[in-house]
Amino acid sequence: MELQNLVKKQIKNLPVYETGKPIEYVAREFGLDPDGILKMASNENPLGPSPKAVEAVKKHLGTLNYYPDGGCYDLRMALSKKWGLKPEQFVIGNGSNEILEFIPQCFIGEGDEAVFGAQSFIVYKLATIFAGGKCVEVPMPNLRYDLDMLRAAVTEKTKLVFMTNPNNPTGCVTKQDEVVNFIKSLPEHVIFCYDEAYTEYEDKEVDLRPLIAEGRKVICLRTFSKIYGLAGLRCGYSFSSPELAGYLNRAREPFNVNSLAQAGALAALEDREFVEKSRAINKAGMKQFVEAFQNMGLEYFAEGANFVMVKVEDALGKFTEMQKCGVIVRPNVGYGLPDWLRITIGLPEQNERCIRELSKLVHK
Ligand SMILES: *Cc1c(COP(=O)(O)O)cnc(C)c1O
Repeated sequence: MELQNLVKKQIKNLPVYETGKPIEYVAREFGLDPDGILKMASNENPLGPSPKAVEAVKKHLGTLNYYPDGGCYDLRMALSKKWGLKPEQFVIGNGSNEILEFIPQCFIGEGDEAVFGAQSFIVYKLATIFAGGKCVEVPMPNLRYDLDMLRAAVTEKTKLVFMTNPNNPTGCVTKQDEVVNFIKSLPEHVIFCYDEAYTEYEDKEVDLRPLIAEGRKVICLRTFSKIYGLAGLRCGYSFSSPELAGYLNRAREPFNVNSLAQAGALAALEDREFVEKSRAINKAGMKQFVEAFQNMGLEYFAEGANFVMVKVEDALGKFTEMQKCGVIVRPNVGYGLPDWLRITIGLPEQNERCIRELSKLVHK
């Protein structure tokens, strides 16, 4: 029996998620010194990790012989206090990506549909296919959500709707009342998954806790990978009704969040100074890129989150050429945006270097 006849149909057809290219790969491929390579491809924090988190992680190194707390008690308590919600409303994941897997695992079966933006985080698609469901990808004209179109895609078969705000990879921001009205328009049989991975970069965050309190089927997802600078630790969380969280928690393996991640995340939550600094650096960097794109006469999209989108001819070629100069950005071919590069905002001098290399290629 051929293995390909044994594997489940949905696994065989699953597209592969291409992550941002790691520094070491680019160094090997182009014969460069890794120390000189600048990665602006995965929306990582250019300031490094939260210093408070680093300290906490170091302190826990000596207890690695023990299993972690499978219930993430301390982190759950701290989150409960931060958000004014009950501890049992939270699910802690190995990155919020893991929770994005739990959701279709719990709610999607054969024939069920998940609705999301066509230029939105690819994990919604992968997780839905993996669970055996069908994806309904809704166009995003001008790189934005069209909420009427998104709503029109919801049918009797829809179980989940995913929305990212600010969106990845486009960076568009959707306002509180638009999100709230959209949720209120959804039928009872639909669960709304609201991915807020980049929301801390915004001046004003959308607050869906009142809708959750009203009994709406809403899951908010947050991460420690972006503004807290802990992408390598893998920790994220969701909040929803206790009942919904209870089901998601059944999909977890008992020790899904390691002890260092729990300690680091807990400390990072208290590191207000780091969050403020990250936000300020990001804001200044976005301005720097916008001015540069305007000077270069390039079309761009820069609204929220910690990255910008810029339109260039042969974006894939430019992506390769920039790597030869030691700058890694992100092409968007997989998102149906072959003319756009996504660039993670860095420190001022890093942005400058990226802009310099890009402008050399654009004005060749
Ligand atoms: C980065 C990101 C996440 C967070 O992923 P982690 O697994 O927590 O690292 C979630 N959603 C989107 C849209 C992201 O871009």
